[in-house]
Amino acid sequence: MENFKDKVVWITGASSGIGEGLVVAFARAGAKVVLSARRSEELKKVQQNAQLDDNNSLILPLDVSQTDSLTAKTQEVLQKFGRIDILVNNAGITQRAAFKDLSFEVVRQIMEINFFGNIALTKAVLPHLLAQKSGSIVVISSVVGKFGTPLRTLYAASKHALHGFYDALRAETWADNLHVMLVCPGYVKTNISLNAVMADGSKQNKMDSGQEKGMSPLDCAEQILKGIRHRKAEIYPAGLKELMAVYLKRFFPAVLRRMVRKVNVT
Ligand code: NDP
Repeated sequence: MENFKDKVVWITGASSGIGEGLVVAFARAGAKVVLSARRSEELKKVQQNAQLDDNNSLILPLDVSQTDSLTAKTQEVLQKFGRIDILVNNAGITQRAAFKDLSFEVVRQIMEINFFGNIALTKAVLPHLLAQKSGSIVVISSVVGKFGTPLRTLYAASKHALHGFYDALRAETWADNLHVMLVCPGYVKTNISLNAVMADGSKQNKMDSGQEKGMSPLDCAEQILKGIRHRKAEIYPAGLKELMAVYLKRFFPAVLRRMVRKVNVT
């Protein structure tokens, strides 16, 4: 069981939602936290709310889709804290548009952030974890990493791709004592649906009812910390409805196929 006291935890997407919940949960557990996302002012607010200071945390603004910048960003973390124990690849965006209407620019934007940005940061951090022969790579996927629903074609594709990649990486790094955990949340009450991209790349700017009624980001974060402590390979912080869908996909896929046709995403 892992104790997080003085562990160095790097969280992307730390300016909002699940990332913000993770910053609070790790800070309470005594970890040193690196907060990354694009908006530095928001990161500073999260740092203050979590009662972190410049001794036990680092604000490190970055855009995960600028993959060439991530090796230098990793050096900044190592200069400050000397090591990285846990990388949480959480930054992500979703979609609310039919594939037939989606511009290919938006197709690439979702894959650049949710997939290439994610694995590029892992690539930058991995040599240090391998040299330490310890560390966790935590990846925030979704229940939509297990099945697909309408208006989320690229979102589902990006999250499914993470499963293939990290299942392979887990096997590849097992002998080096690394821990790789995929997290598949159901609805969590964050700004994800407000920030969801529409067919032309604009933001939806509307809270969907699923997220409105979803679990709190802090509850989700606490489940993630528990998963790391127990070195889980995959966890599902989700409500009963979303969990049912995961099990239907596994055991009765034809039933789920019929059900998702009727999902009315507004
Ligand atoms: P939010 O929209 O609240 O937060 C998304 C975070 O990602 C923000 O901190 C944002 O910061 C950051 N981000 C977005 N694009 C980039 C980028 N290019 N570079 C760096 N950071 C970026 O949503 P959630 O907290 O809900 O989302 C977090 C993760 O959880 C995502 O991967 C999402 O797919 C996943 N998830 C969420 C669910 C939910 O119901 N909320 C359900 C299942 C999975 P900034 O804008 O400052 O860059």
